[in-house]
Amino acid sequence: MKAMVMKEWNGPYVEEDRPLPKVGPLDVLIRVKACGIGYTLTNLRAGRLGGSVPRVIGHEIGGVVEDIGPLVTTCKPGDRVCVSFYLTCGHCKWCVNGRETLCENFGGYVGAAIDGGFAEYAKIPERNVIPIPEGIGFAEAGVTTDAVATNWHVFKERCKTRPNDRVLVVGAGGGVGIHTIQVAKVFGAHVIGADVADEKLELAKEYGADEVINVSGKEMSKEVMKLTEDRGVDAVVDMVSTKHTLEQGIRSLGVSGTLVLVGVAQNVPSLEFEVGRLIFDELVLTGCRCATRQEIRESLELVRKGDVKPVVMNTFPLEEINEVQELIDKMALSGRTSIVYD
Ligand SMILES: [Zn+2]
Repeated sequence: MKAMVMKEWNGPYVEEDRPLPKVGPLDVLIRVKACGIGYTLTNLRAGRLGGSVPRVIGHEIGGVVEDIGPLVTTCKPGDRVCVSFYLTCGHCKWCVNGRETLCENFGGYVGAAIDGGFAEYAKIPERNVIPIPEGIGFAEAGVTTDAVATNWHVFKERCKTRPNDRVLVVGAGGGVGIHTIQVAKVFGAHVIGADVADEKLELAKEYGADEVINVSGKEMSKEVMKLTEDRGVDAVVDMVSTKHTLEQGIRSLGVSGTLVLVGVAQNVPSLEFEVGRLIFDELVLTGCRCATRQEIRESLELVRKGDVKPVVMNTFPLEEINEVQELIDKMALSGRTSIVYD
């Protein structure tokens, strides 16, 4: 099979002809039909999410079951499936309490600790394989496992959003942000989208933002206070997560507001904010660790019903992956991007 292999962190993808992976008792061999490529891979390729090289990366997989191990009972050859990103133990307290992405025996990520989807076939543990409901395409399902499911976790569990809550999305016009807006609307929220370019804000409006703010050269929290009669918002979901956006996000929160980091704040060692507000306003500062398999299933159901539309704006063949990665690293592509296979 053809595989695009990373030989070293941040190196190029190198084409290799590899034998088909041999399935173990609890493995599923998937013929890959689509694999999403987003900014998570920029971090993963730099070695910031662990794992080892050489590695076939890519985790937003949609495909068809080709073969199963003798102990696999939950899928069969021919089934359309997608994949959960986290390799978890299934029996620690977090796994059994429905918070498996905090697993104590975390085994790393698909496409970092084990080979992923930028190859014609991928061998995935049965535990990580999730059926794709009828009517959802492979690329759309792959995007749902990450960009939709993460936001489902944000509003359902981190913010516990209620109808008419005011939600501020920072980085609203980006590939994840346009899904954040859609999922916030499913919860009945009033969504304010913030971004730094008018064309991104147009995109945010197109996907459901009720109001938008171009924060370029402006103080975001002041603009938010203007839009909310000085009450602030119930939740800030930050895709950008710089020191500046996070501090401005906290200032934008109203009483009992929740700030959720979705973007990885890798260069933010500390924040300055009015600590007393944690008591007097019961603010909550938290982050979001992707989504559980159950949340991925719930997200696929939202997509099947048409409540959320996974936005795959660009598709490319596997051979062009090096060029595509360059565009992703430069953030030169709108929406989500997927590699698609014949
Ligand atoms: Zn566990």
